[in-house]
Amino acid sequence: MTADPDCLFCKIIAGAIPAQIVHDGERTFAFRDIHPQAPLHVLVVPRDHAPNAAATAESDATVFAEIALTARAIAAAEGYDDYRLVFNTGPGAGQTVFHTHAHVLAGGPLPMSAG
Ligand code: 5GP
Ligand code: ZN
Repeated sequence: MTADPDCLFCKIIAGAIPAQIVHDGERTFAFRDIHPQAPLHVLVVPRDHAPNAAATAESDATVFAEIALTARAIAAAEGYDDYRLVFNTGPGAGQTVFHTHAHVLAGGPLPMSAG
C-alpha cells in the first residue's frame, strides 16, 4: 500500500481523521463528503495514493474499475439506481484533494461539478 503522509484522504483511510465511512474494502474505501452537494454525496477512493483518476487507471486499471463498481453498490444500497460520478482533475477543474476520488452524487438536481 502506498500512502502520502501529507494527504488528507490517506489520513482518513488510516483512521487518523474521522469520517462517515460507508465502505471499507480491500482496495477501495468510501466516506460521505463533509460538504454534500446532493442528498447522496459520497467519495470513493482507492486505498493506494495516486493524484488523480488517470494516474490510478494507469497504475492499476483493476482498482479503477473497482471504484466504479463500489460507487454503483453504494448508490444501490442507498436506494439510487441513477447517480452521477465526477472525477475532478487539476485545480482548474476544481480538484482540491490530490488523492484520486470519485464523487458519487444522487437524489435531486445534481451539480455537474462537485467539491
Ligand atoms: P475535489 O474538490 O478535490 O474534487 O473534492 C474534494 C472533496 O473533499 C470536496 O467535495 C470536499 O467537500 C471534501 N472534503 C474536504 N475535506 C474533507 C474532510 O475532511 N472530510 C470529508 N469527509 N470530506 C472532505
Ligand atoms: Zn492520499
